[in-house]
Amino acid sequence: MEERVDQIIRILKEKKIKYREDEKLSSYCTFGIGGECDLLVIARSANCISQTIKLANKYGVKWMALGKGSNVLFDDNGYRGIIILVGEEFSNYKVEGTTITASAGISLRDLADVALEHSLEGFEFAGDIPGTLGGAIIMNAGAYGGEMKHVVKEVRMLDKEGNTVVYTNDEMDFSYRDSNAQRKGYIVFEVVIELKKGNKKDISDNRIVFNQRRADKQPLELPSAGSTFKRPEGYYAGKLIQDSGLRGVKFGGAQVSDKHTGFIVNTANAKSSDVKTLIKIIQKRVLEEFGVELQTELKIIEE
Ligand SMILES: Cc1cc2nc3c(=O)[nH]c(=O)nc-3n(C[C@H](O)[C@H](O)[C@H](O)COP(=O)(O)OP(=O)(O)OC[C@H]3O[C@@H](n4cnc5c(N)ncnc54)[C@H](O)[C@@H]3O)c2cc1C
Repeated sequence: MEERVDQIIRILKEKKIKYREDEKLSSYCTFGIGGECDLLVIARSANCISQTIKLANKYGVKWMALGKGSNVLFDDNGYRGIIILVGEEFSNYKVEGTTITASAGISLRDLADVALEHSLEGFEFAGDIPGTLGGAIIMNAGAYGGEMKHVVKEVRMLDKEGNTVVYTNDEMDFSYRDSNAQRKGYIVFEVVIELKKGNKKDISDNRIVFNQRRADKQPLELPSAGSTFKRPEGYYAGKLIQDSGLRGVKFGGAQVSDKHTGFIVNTANAKSSDVKTLIKIIQKRVLEEFGVELQTELKIIEE
């Protein structure tokens, strides 16, 4: 493995593609959990992502895209492969009328600020979701009645071979925290968003209301990956967990949040295994108490 990674590094150097070796993944996710990855490639263009995918495939090294890491749980042993970081170094955008075309690495907050600046309405829901545009597309992220599905016009991606694929909103087949691109394992590199002309003051007021609701309800003072579980049909995961008597329950450094039982928080140097065990405890108890199977929303990344 080491030899193959070394070969890839040699070529990345030649191609002037930016990378880092042996980075601790705990620094690249909001949970603050995760060991070292073999290689972290910092995406600055679609071409650089495509070249990395092709190289990784050629040398038989696995890879995955990472945005802000706000919906992932990395392994304590890290990741044996290449993490393609689609983040702030790939975050340019262009506004034309009510359309914003942006690179996948832009943060949702920055994009919401751009929309506000141009008095464009419809993206307020996403302003405090702590992810990137690419991660939000894959997850069909949503809040307060809004979701990516409502604002996306076109998504430009790379398939598993590194070839460009362009999908319309319909082709993305968005559903609750899911998308066609997620199922196919594509990497998003650019997105066309269609908003409506609005009133700047109203847009700003909406942002403030949503921001306050979040601060009131979510344990933002502690590291987490947001909602641990998807909302089961007809229920709320947090309510089921609370009614199962699990509020505040701890395993190692991982704890069911006191403030929002839908969140697992990292109280003190939680290990990945602590979170995984706590997830199993919750799933078992909720199944016993209510006959409901909770599915994780956060992505558990194996070594
Ligand atoms: C405090 C807190 C609050 C949250 N609130 C919400 C909320 O209200 N609503 C909500 O929906 N989510 C919420 N989340 C979860 C998370 O922020 C969203 O799912 C977000 O869209 C993930 O974006 P990311 O860039 O962090 O993705 P990451 O966590 O980096 O990645 C998530 C998945 O997407 C993939 N991915 C990332 N970037 C790309 C790309 N460019 N192309 C292809 N695949 C990619 C990764 O491989 C991984 O499988 C919250 C999280 C936290 C910590």
